[in-house]
Amino acid sequence: MSNYRNEQKQLDKQSLGLPLNKKTYIKNLYPCYLGIVLIGKISPSILEKLKFQIELVFDSFFFDILYIGEKKFDTCLYKLNTKVEFDLLDRTLKKVILYPTNKFYSTIKKQMSDYILAFGLGLTDLPIYSSSDESLLFLFGETNFKHNCAIVSTHNLMDLEKHRIVEIRIVKEAIHEIGHLILGYEHCLNDSCVMWFSANTEEIDRKSNNLCEKCKSELEEIRAINNFYNVTLGKSWMNSLMSSTLTFLSSP
Ligand SMILES: [Zn+2]
Ligand SMILES: [Zn+2]
Repeated sequence: MSNYRNEQKQLDKQSLGLPLNKKTYIKNLYPCYLGIVLIGKISPSILEKLKFQIELVFDSFFFDILYIGEKKFDTCLYKLNTKVEFDLLDRTLKKVILYPTNKFYSTIKKQMSDYILAFGLGLTDLPIYSSSDESLLFLFGETNFKHNCAIVSTHNLMDLEKHRIVEIRIVKEAIHEIGHLILGYEHCLNDSCVMWFSANTEEIDRKSNNLCEKCKSELEEIRAINNFYNVTLGKSWMNSLMSSTLTFLSSP
């Protein structure tokens, strides 16, 4: 059973694809700063792991990844435009309130401008729906290209058996949304790539937390456009250059 009622619609949208000249990543300048803000009841214990994995996947894209605070989400203030739906994760099928993603974008945007950051990522425990397409309910996450920010909701990332939120799923979905911010709207057709569109938690568990070779080559393209290089590759290139220079110096 899918947690998404909108699954087919999302897949149809995804299959449309976009022409290459519509790629959104060209407008951004890298490296830049990324800020993470926690909204609602989210434990900061995830932050270290998240930062480590983001830096690993998007090596050299960020000068730094900053924790820019914990924000209360005043559910009373945000009653307008909420939706009440059956919580498919709950066996008793109780109803839950879903909040539109644009409310989260305003909070993230505010934090981003306070800290003067190019990119922002919000994590929330609250269930969300898309404010740009109201039929997209219980989203794992969504990206807003206009404001360069994204939101990930942990609500549907629970392990049904163990009733706990699985950290690795949060990491994968956060990397997925940051991947959209950098690479654009499109999803990857490789089901083990983190940019694969996951319709349910099984698909999240199946995919890796890294980019496939094709998506990595797109990152390389963006590095080339922005005139910087992958630090890890750069180090090995520098080491080989150094050793050849030393050989040259020591040769008679
Ligand atoms: Zn996506
Ligand atoms: Zn890929």
